[in-house]
Amino acid sequence: MPIDATQPYDDSNIFARILRGELPSKTVYDDEFALAFHDINPQAPLHILVIPKGAYVSWDDFSARASDAEIAGFVRAVGQVARDAGLVEPGYRLLANTGLDSHQEVPHLHVHIFAGRKLGPMLAR
Ligand code: 5GP
Repeated sequence: MPIDATQPYDDSNIFARILRGELPSKTVYDDEFALAFHDINPQAPLHILVIPKGAYVSWDDFSARASDAEIAGFVRAVGQVARDAGLVEPGYRLLANTGLDSHQEVPHLHVHIFAGRKLGPMLAR
């Protein structure tokens, strides 16, 4: 079910539970601002999720409320994860769903990194 990104943060969501160590994840990156792990249901040969450590529902919430340090730390982490995975030369795609029409399912901001095959043109369907 897609979530309403205007609702307040709900700390029972699955990524909050991963951040608290209550659920396992295949972690590929961890620092003060961000955690990155493999998606449980990959949509490409490589499908990594990068999430901020802070409690933010969506890109909208994060861009409005996060500190400059959190934003810089998170954006740098996304780039670092892609570089660490050797994705700059072959290329990769970033995606951050926000709210109902995008079909965001987990109400904690996450950036998808898709890679490992030719991803084709971006399609909004
Ligand atoms: P959204 O549709 O919200 O942009 O993407 C949510 C993503 O989270 C989906 O790609 C889904 O496969 C992934 N996901 C959902 N639950 C879990 C989980 O427990 N562990 C991991 N690693 N990924 C999850």
